Amino acid sequence: WIIDAAQLSNPSGAHHTTRVIIRDVTAEHQIEQVRKDFVANASHELRTPLAIINGYLENLLDDDMVEEPDLARRFLTVMRKHSDRISRIVEDMLVISRLESGEANALKIEPFKFRSCIKDILERLESMIRNQHAEMTVTMPDPALVMQGDRFYWTQVLFNLVENALKQNPYPGLRVEIGCEAAGEQIRIWVADNGVGIPSADLPHIFRRFFRVEKHHSQQEIKGTGLGLSIVKRAIEAHGGNIGVTSVPGSETKFLITVPREMP
Ligand code: ADP
Repeated sequence: WIIDAAQLSNPSGAHHTTRVIIRDVTAEHQIEQVRKDFVANASHELRTPLAIINGYLENLLDDDMVEEPDLARRFLTVMRKHSDRISRIVEDMLVISRLESGEANALKIEPFKFRSCIKDILERLESMIRNQHAEMTVTMPDPALVMQGDRFYWTQVLFNLVENALKQNPYPGLRVEIGCEAAGEQIRIWVADNGVGIPSADLPHIFRRFFRVEKHHSQQEIKGTGLGLSIVKRAIEAHGGNIGVTSVPGSETKFLITVPREMP
């Protein structure tokens, strides 16, 4: 709360009035806090790969390195991996900030076939799908279903969800289903997998920026920025829709989106 009090008097100074203004600034403080957290988390996430790159640079600048080209090349490869990570984080942050600023109004709304988004992302993820021998199913009762919205963001939404299903489950026997159907005034879209799942304690947090589930099972580090699902959520909300998730660890994870057929 902000309390602002002032003594008012008339020109002759005879009458005094006290004016008190009380303003509830909880919402403003919350927004400010979210912004501060974002900046703090982003700085933290960027600092780690930068420190690693700097460490390797120091080594490479060392004169002895000239005599060890193989080792130098290995160092450069590690540096590239970390600079790729920085680029990904920055790209994702830009998308989020574009969606959160008024620029969301600049969504390019046009009719498009959702099937074309599915085709697009299946092509982009083809090598991952093939390497993992993942079984992909598309459930779309009306293949000609037309959506209204920004095709670029819908492709990104679908890409992030399907890529997550694949990368979180690098095991044989993975099945991923992509579905889309009309339901009255709404369109329902879902992505489901039969992978490791998400612990119920983590479910409420997975759409938060930079949130990643602590890995309890032994597996090599899975690539990611922790921003993918925040982008998904914000892009869907910018289209007047919403997203929910259910998960039974070890059995099924399903993301379900509902979005109005016509943009409000
Ligand atoms: P990331 O860049 O880590 O993929 P996301 O925001 O896309 O970030 O996802 C946040 C976390 O949610 C992931 O780190 C992962 O732990 C969990 N997650 C998302 N999708 C799935 C899924 N299909 N199966 C299991 N865990 C998932």
